[in-house]
Amino acid sequence: MDKSVNLYVVVPCYNEEAVLPETSKRMLELFSTMKNDGLINDKSRIVFVDDGSKDKTWSIIDSLAKEHKEIAGVKLARNAGHQNALLGGLMTVKNDCDCAVSIDADLQDDINVIPDMVKHYIDGYDVVYGVRNKRDTDTFFKRSTAVGFYKLMQAMGVNIVFNHADYRLMSRRALEGLAEFPERNLFLRGMVPLVGYRSTSVCYDRNERFAGESKYPLKKMLSFAFDGITSFSISPIRIISTFGAIVCVISVAMAIYALVEKLLGNTDSGWASLMMSIWFIGGVQLLSVGLIGEYIGKLYKEVKRRPRYIIETYVNEKDNN
Ligand code: UDP
Ligand code: MG
Repeated sequence: MDKSVNLYVVVPCYNEEAVLPETSKRMLELFSTMKNDGLINDKSRIVFVDDGSKDKTWSIIDSLAKEHKEIAGVKLARNAGHQNALLGGLMTVKNDCDCAVSIDADLQDDINVIPDMVKHYIDGYDVVYGVRNKRDTDTFFKRSTAVGFYKLMQAMGVNIVFNHADYRLMSRRALEGLAEFPERNLFLRGMVPLVGYRSTSVCYDRNERFAGESKYPLKKMLSFAFDGITSFSISPIRIISTFGAIVCVISVAMAIYALVEKLLGNTDSGWASLMMSIWFIGGVQLLSVGLIGEYIGKLYKEVKRRPRYIIETYVNEKDNN
């Protein structure tokens, strides 16, 4: 029996005409090596997902797909954004493959670790995270904001893999698990750990984008980071409640202080009562906002309709004799 893996590599592309010829060439080379090594089978594919590009991206993909049987293409009807394009690609191929690797079109992530990912899959791992060794090629700004972001996410109780972006292998059943998450605000690197199953990681050095421009300017990067936090954590709401409670406590201290000052005759008339009301009302308001926030937090969890569990195995011996 053929033991080799049916691998699909899913590549989201938005205005990537500058990189596609080189990317497809390198991918095809890697595919032929992996085929020769008996790692992947003939049905394996490289799937380029055109995320509503405005340039020649789709016509390049289309002709590549006609030229090489290893290459396939998916065209989205409009620009849906990186995360949506990636999920769309993965969901399109999930029933055709044993496992799928997702990678950016600019090959900043080293494709030479794909064989290692596949080997881990063969060893029984369902998710293999690609993790960056170092960030020498990123600017100081990008590096420090990224590290700060991962730290902040962890502090807010979101389980994400440090220095891992969207370069990963997922088995078919892990993809099926991911399909159970019906949420609209996608933050895949936070969702995949929620699916579960056995996971591991492989390290690689991140390169510079070899052609074209980043499609993630600072504004998109910030909104992505904000999405990540607000889609996974209700800690910000809790912070408001905590702050409200602290202000209430301070208001008691301030009330005592104001009374003492009044009794000592150090105050103008009206000062003490104003002082007490300002602190007290402030604290009560913050607490109330936090309380309403708790209900919104519950609503938000309900509305997401995330799966409550995913069953990995069910062993039941009762029918065996
Ligand atoms: N991308 C996409 N849709 C978008 C923006 C980006 O499919 O609306 C793709 C893009 O083609 C690339 C990947 O997402 O394959 C990552 O983008 P980029 O390399 O520009 O991000 P960076 O590496 O600078 O963070
Ligand atoms: Mg890039």
